Amino acid sequence: MTLHPEAFKSLVKAAAEQVIASAAELTALDQAIGDGDHGTNMKRGFEAVLGRLDAIGAQSLDEALKTIGKTLVMTVGGASGPLYGSFFLAAGDALSHNKQLPDDLAEIFSSGVSAVSARGRSQAGEKTMLDVLVPVLETLKAAAGRPDLIERVRAAASEAVARTAPMQATKGRASFLGPRSVGHIDPGARSSCVLVNAVCAALETRQ
Ligand code: ADP
Ligand code: MG
Repeated sequence: MTLHPEAFKSLVKAAAEQVIASAAELTALDQAIGDGDHGTNMKRGFEAVLGRLDAIGAQSLDEALKTIGKTLVMTVGGASGPLYGSFFLAAGDALSHNKQLPDDLAEIFSSGVSAVSARGRSQAGEKTMLDVLVPVLETLKAAAGRPDLIERVRAAASEAVARTAPMQATKGRASFLGPRSVGHIDPGARSSCVLVNAVCAALETRQ
């Protein structure tokens, strides 16, 4: 599996469109345990990414990831903007440092996850996007090189989203609700899953 610039561009486009199409669902989830802006935040950010798609498509992969990160930092807002921004900035940075796709996918993804964790002072188990990103990373490591990697990643992400429902939030706005945050899916976990699934779908159609 190699990722050509044109393929990367269409993958970014598909992922952005998927996030934008999920805005209403993400907002509804954030209305339950937050302030109801996650969908609009993400939509604004990924519309900005679409607006820069030609520039992103013309860049090397590492620079493209950094541009996506900077765009998200500047446009998403909320808690999630700097966190998603850090993910892509760190992944792009990792790719610049002698890493390559697809061989180092898990390592590159891991750099993104570590950046979110550092920026958010958070870890898995606190009912945030990390409750999807960390299981996806574990699956990338465990299933690297397997023919069913994409299928496993997709399943891991969906199962991980469901597992956020019984958790009590201890980070982010939902933590203000204490035990009342239990019983709801975390909006950021869901948006991470949307992104992961969109990338999986784009890669699958290329196989
Ligand atoms: P805000 O909470 O500022 O309104 P959003 O609604 O856009 O921002 O994003 C909320 C999501 O951000 C949460 O559902 C959660 O997944 C994620 N999040 C919030 N704080 C953290 C954190 N410290 N670490 C990781 N993810 C976080
Ligand atoms: Mg919010």
